[in-house]
Amino acid sequence: MSFKKLGLSDALLKAISKKGYTTPSPIQEKAIPKILEGRDVLASAQTGTGKTAGFTLPMLEKMIVSPSLHKRPIRALILTPTRELAAQILDDVKAYSQFIDIRSMVIFGGVNANPQIRTLKQGVDVLVATPGRLLDLHNQGYISFSKTEFLVLDEADRMLDMGFLRDIKKVLALLPQKRQNLLFSATFSKDIKKLAGSFLNNPVLVEA
Ligand code: AMP
Repeated sequence: MSFKKLGLSDALLKAISKKGYTTPSPIQEKAIPKILEGRDVLASAQTGTGKTAGFTLPMLEKMIVSPSLHKRPIRALILTPTRELAAQILDDVKAYSQFIDIRSMVIFGGVNANPQIRTLKQGVDVLVATPGRLLDLHNQGYISFSKTEFLVLDEADRMLDMGFLRDIKKVLALLPQKRQNLLFSATFSKDIKKLAGSFLNNPVLVEA
């Protein structure tokens, strides 16, 4: 299998080959086509499986194929449990989108919010965030989800372990009804299954 056969555009293929990847990992091979089809995905994947590219590449592809009529609304929201993970995901999003016209940024707590607010005001297509600061900046009126098409919950089990369930539910309630949802988790407790059942729409199950 090749990334080209998975249906990705040249600009993404160029970024992938610059990263040095030659073949898709198993999770990428399974998840990318389903995400391109527009399906909700429930994926069981540990760190190290290539899951970040597994959800980022097809979302970027869909954004290239149908450009937004609006000026950089937040089209994709990637929620993660920690600032380290958020920063790492942003690095990957930037690497994969370097040859396309997509702006991305990260917001997390524990640092001054002003630089984040300034960047938000310039417009962003892909937002990577931890839940607390995201809600904080939304409550202050700096974030609109009116055009958000994609939601990713990454490391959902860790988010629940860290007590983010209420925040996740609050974020879900702010998003448009019509959107594509992707949930990635290393483990599947009863609570994760319940959360997945509450917002995923007829999801495809994918295992790394
Ligand atoms: P992740 O599971 O998303 O944290 O990715 C784990 C590591 O695998 C990261 O360093 C990626 O850059 C790398 N990676 C992702 N996809 C591939 C691939 N298809 N081939 C080789 N390395 C990859």
